[in-house]
Amino acid sequence: MFDNGYFDWNATSPIYPEALEKYIDVSAKYFHNTSSVYSKGAEAKKLLNLSRKECASILKTEEKNIYFTSGATESNNIIISSLRNSISKGTILVSEIEHPSVLRPVMELEKYGYTIEKLKVNEKGIVTPESLAKKLKKDIKLIAIMLVNNETGAIQPIQKLVEVTKKYEQLINKKIHFHCDIVQAVGKIEINLKELNINSAAISAHKFSGPKGVGILYLNKNIDTIYKGGGQENNIRSGTENLPAIVAMTKALQISTSSIASYTKIAQTIKTYLYKEIEQLKKIKIISNNDENYSPYILTISPVGIPSEVTLRMLEEKEIYVSSGSACSANSKKKDNYVLKSMGLSKEIIESSIRISWGHSTTLKDAEKLMETLKNIIKENDFLLKIK
Ligand code: PLP
Repeated sequence: MFDNGYFDWNATSPIYPEALEKYIDVSAKYFHNTSSVYSKGAEAKKLLNLSRKECASILKTEEKNIYFTSGATESNNIIISSLRNSISKGTILVSEIEHPSVLRPVMELEKYGYTIEKLKVNEKGIVTPESLAKKLKKDIKLIAIMLVNNETGAIQPIQKLVEVTKKYEQLINKKIHFHCDIVQAVGKIEINLKELNINSAAISAHKFSGPKGVGILYLNKNIDTIYKGGGQENNIRSGTENLPAIVAMTKALQISTSSIASYTKIAQTIKTYLYKEIEQLKKIKIISNNDENYSPYILTISPVGIPSEVTLRMLEEKEIYVSSGSACSANSKKKDNYVLKSMGLSKEIIESSIRISWGHSTTLKDAEKLMETLKNIIKENDFLLKIK
């Protein structure tokens, strides 16, 4: 079923057969509109709310805080763009390593009278609580910091960052909205929304082997969204709910989160194997560390001197698929990897960087094949390598 050479799980992941089955089943049996008042509509609505209940329970929050959306891009945009309506403007603090679905709507807010300030990361790609503390000021309306970075796998210390924010809130006697993109964390590391103590979070199902085009917005307060329509999802996200996708996503969430312990063990074995092999080669710059501050599912490296496109093409010849950066930003004209740049990495390192990411069905054998192919590429292009 799964593609063994697929090492681009941060871009998207294959759907679980059980989730696909749900999708097909619900599409056929429950096609009625969840807003229809007759019994078939009510049945569909019941299923929708069962999914909400299950997602809330898995993510450790209440049902009323779960809103179904078309994915993280929409979830991020709902929160950020809602600030356009606000009468009192102020400052937005955003980490410079956010996904474009956070950074771009935040930058838009400038047009609405907000001041945008970027939070820098350290050389490990992490926003430290100290650096956040220095940036806090009275007029801050929103702080947006992601949990796991999609390019490097760096895990941000969200709980500590929230603690710093809460202390400051007490000092100024005012609330600050804390938003967190948790896309690359769900189904991979334990998520407890209650403990995270944030106001909102964005989730996409296709990153944890659910269907594409469906996701969750977690939100624990009231906001005035700029999107208006039929009033579904308690007016936070109008539009007919994609019930088959929502039920399938719930299935994927159940499977992935209940298997986290066993998945992590395999993922960590793969990471340690790749890390050690690459380290031993002594010719490749390793960007993602192999410690608890990084996701066990991603390794970003740079065979400095060999352009990313060359490595990508040579791997593809052997049916191995990796990425040279974010697939989501590959559409933008300016292809500089701002995440790696923010870590202080040189243009040379960035231009050769490749992102290897895997998932629950990847085996050590798949990683061994990847490694063997990578070693051959290094050998063939030795003359280009900058680290000898
Ligand atoms: N946030 C992060 C960290 C991502 O990696 C992605 C997709 O790559 C998104 C948001 C956007 O997700 P989607 O395209 O499903 O809306």
